[in-house]
Amino acid sequence: MLHLEKKLIEELKSTIAGTIILPDDPTYNKARTIWNGMIDKKPALIVQVADTQDVPVAVNFARKNRLELSVLGGGHHIAGNSLAENGLTIDFSNMKKVQVDPEKRRAYVEPGATLADFDKATQAHGLATPTGINSTTGMAGLTLGGGFGWLTRQYGLTVDNLVSADVVSAGGKAIKASEEENPDLFWALRGGGGNFGVVTGFEFNLHNMGPEVFAGLMVFPFHQAKNVLRQYNEFSQSAPRELNVWVVLRHAPPLPFLPDDVHGKMVLVLAIFYNGEADKGEKLVDFLRGFGNPVGEHTGMQPYTQWQQAFDPLLTPGLRNYWKSHNFETVTDELIGSLVKFAGTIPSPHTEIFLGSISGLQNEIPAEATAYPLRHARYIMNVHGRWEDESDDDRLIGWAREVYNATKPYAAGGAYVNFMTEDENNAVASAYGANYERLVALKQKFDPENLFHMNQNIKPKPMAST
Ligand SMILES: Cc1cc2nc3c(=O)[nH]c(=O)nc-3n(C[C@H](O)[C@H](O)[C@H](O)COP(=O)(O)OP(=O)(O)OC[C@H]3O[C@@H](n4cnc5c(N)ncnc54)[C@H](O)[C@@H]3O)c2cc1C
Repeated sequence: MLHLEKKLIEELKSTIAGTIILPDDPTYNKARTIWNGMIDKKPALIVQVADTQDVPVAVNFARKNRLELSVLGGGHHIAGNSLAENGLTIDFSNMKKVQVDPEKRRAYVEPGATLADFDKATQAHGLATPTGINSTTGMAGLTLGGGFGWLTRQYGLTVDNLVSADVVSAGGKAIKASEEENPDLFWALRGGGGNFGVVTGFEFNLHNMGPEVFAGLMVFPFHQAKNVLRQYNEFSQSAPRELNVWVVLRHAPPLPFLPDDVHGKMVLVLAIFYNGEADKGEKLVDFLRGFGNPVGEHTGMQPYTQWQQAFDPLLTPGLRNYWKSHNFETVTDELIGSLVKFAGTIPSPHTEIFLGSISGLQNEIPAEATAYPLRHARYIMNVHGRWEDESDDDRLIGWAREVYNATKPYAAGGAYVNFMTEDENNAVASAYGANYERLVALKQKFDPENLFHMNQNIKPKPMAST
């Protein structure tokens, strides 16, 4: 463990309003615990910033003392880059405020806010913007990588609704990024992850929404999976954008609306979200029922904030996680065959394969308009390898990689950086595709020393010369 001079730490303490947590502090272990239970990193110091002014102080301290620097938002990224082993972690857990201007339909969000914080504040005014499907995820990391969820078909990605960001640069300067100010930095932030600076505030555009939506789950027996998936593919080509249906292949959790004998059996679940009136939602759901013979269903009107938390019980922190992801333009019969084959061998009750629909508004935005490059993708698959015991690591990781390799021939190329594991850092160039070259040039401009490298790292110079 690195030993910083006590005097230096005391100096830092006296210059910031926030708290510094050191390894001998009783709250240290809690502060360094993040969502993925496989990550066990020990920062030399965790700076729990209290306000925006603390951030440049922490950035300058890390740079001057040549400390590895990381930024912790909601702590959900499975690669665990939010913690700096033996380095300095800027922790935003005490900066979670979300302020809403209902007249302007704007939200001003501090970087420690979770999706739940965001939804609560915006829904108080009947407003929302697309985010993700697990309410404990951090707004910061989700936004910087792209961000997609139930509202994406209708309103695009989270980054498509970003209006401006306040950033602390590698040199410790506060900069505004928007279409008007530093537009190149604003371009890079919308998908480029944490490569370009520390964001201390986000401004989002909001849409009228809810407070109730038509949503729920429909569960089919696994032997009908191929047939359901074929119809799902066909149906989702022309489904209204207010409707978003995702497919989950997994062992059935003990949900009260499922018969006892289905619990623990492999099933195909349609997760259904309709941003509209009940009778229209009911008609759409009736159509989905015809995909097979559901063994259980629970759908109806419910608060949007409730649906945003519906998957939280399946995505609790602490388990071991290894994910693999592809994007698809269409769900071909060959892909369906492969998905169903591997779903039949799912190696743990917590593991699942999900296929989310992201087709809609985001496909109409040119790939070069923001750093997020996957504008051609209409579906995203995530193989959620998830298990309890360390002794299962090789088996579960091996299985997830096998699914990934087998489904690669049908993939649309590129990768979603928010789903990339630690061992995929060498795939960053291909993840960004045609946008990579511009990102490298902007990295050279904004962070030539690569201070911000605890992320899906874009190196400042072309790979060949590093
Ligand atoms: C259970 C679960 C469900 C998910 N569901 C979805 C989903 O539905 N849709 C979706 O799009 N994604 C989803 N994700 C992926 C999610 O978007 C990423 O994990 C994202 O990085 C999480 O952000 P965070 O702030 O919680 O993570 P953190 O791990 O805290 O941060 C991730 C990285 O973001 C950067 N970063 C964070 N804060 C800042 C900041 N203030 N300034 C600069 N850089 C920063 C850093 O590089 C950091 O390493 C899900 C993840 C999980 C674990």
